Amino acid sequence: MRYGIFSDVHSNVTALQSVLAELDGANVDRLICLGDIVGYGPNPNECCAILRQRGVAAIMGNHDEAALSNEHDEWFNDNAQAAIAWTRRNLAAENRAFLAALPAELAFDSFALVHGSPARHFDYILDVGDAVRAFRATQKPITFVGHSHVAEVYFQAADGRTFHERLAHGGSVVIESGFRYIINPGSVGQPRDRNPQASYAIYDEARGAVDVRRVNYDIGAVQRLMEEAKLPGALATRLSVGK
Ligand code: ZN
Repeated sequence: MRYGIFSDVHSNVTALQSVLAELDGANVDRLICLGDIVGYGPNPNECCAILRQRGVAAIMGNHDEAALSNEHDEWFNDNAQAAIAWTRRNLAAENRAFLAALPAELAFDSFALVHGSPARHFDYILDVGDAVRAFRATQKPITFVGHSHVAEVYFQAADGRTFHERLAHGGSVVIESGFRYIINPGSVGQPRDRNPQASYAIYDEARGAVDVRRVNYDIGAVQRLMEEAKLPGALATRLSVGK
């Protein structure tokens, strides 16, 4: 099987379409989304509709959860909160229902999906210490995570030694026996690894490799839509710099 894996779309349908066009040309059998389909960007309904239509296997991110109720607003900074409030006002009922039905995690034979960390769903994996805690909480040889918007891989040897490699400009992770992997495919709609290109991954099970790739999209068009929607300016500006 070849899996197209992406995360943190954040209502950026322009970036999502660029990623899906690449994945359509890459012969993937199954599409997977690691959560945060909405929040920050101008097209929450369009993003949900595409994921629903294409039968993407998706899990719930913290922004998806926050779009359903104001219970967790204290977790968000002012701009994120303003964007979530806007998302709640604009989300169609069928897309609210779609988000509400998303599971917190999904397991496949050789890998698992969780938005933040296997330790706790919405914990961040930001360094090797976080990754060590995460590896302790799962048996799976490969776990795909999102949440930090940084494309990277942590891998752990059988003796516990844990390594880290950034993939901000793409790259290939060869899956070796004797190691376990936590792989973040980066963010489609709001990258934060100083590369503004949309990020995604392809996991080729037979080849035993995960390729992280980046693709351009029309950032200016998204920024204009955000301005028209009166979403916070800082959220639009950060798309140009990818942080
Ligand atoms: Zn996110």
